Amino acid sequence: MVIAVDFDGTIVEHRYPRIGKPIPFAIDILKQLQNEHHILIMWTVREGDLLQEAIDYCAQQGLIFFAHNSNFPEEDRSSGSRKLTADLFIDDRNFGGLPDWGIIYRGIHKGLGHDLKFNEEDLFNEEQRPAKLSVWRKIFK
Ligand SMILES: [Mg+2]
Repeated sequence: MVIAVDFDGTIVEHRYPRIGKPIPFAIDILKQLQNEHHILIMWTVREGDLLQEAIDYCAQQGLIFFAHNSNFPEEDRSSGSRKLTADLFIDDRNFGGLPDWGIIYRGIHKGLGHDLKFNEEDLFNEEQRPAKLSVWRKIFK
């Protein structure tokens, strides 16, 4: 699946044009999705130096996106459509906001692209429901 991922407010807290604090588990879960052969595209309003700062921030933590603000690395986006042909967008501007990254991960595995926030109850049974800070451990136990 091709997954477009926003940066500010999604991977890090929204402090644009600065880089905010990391949002828990975002980088780790994105790297795990790559391990599972999903293709990740950074999809952000950042351009130029600000885009490069975001790319570098992720790269320093081992997260290398397939492309940035484009469908593939060499795509010429100076003319024509800006449409990105991703299967899924992960963005804090989505209706309902950004779910917990553990919820996003589980949702992708269950084939859900929307309603993640509101179907949270369906994604975990009582024993599986993670405590706020132990989502990552719960996923890979
Ligand atoms: Mg954002």
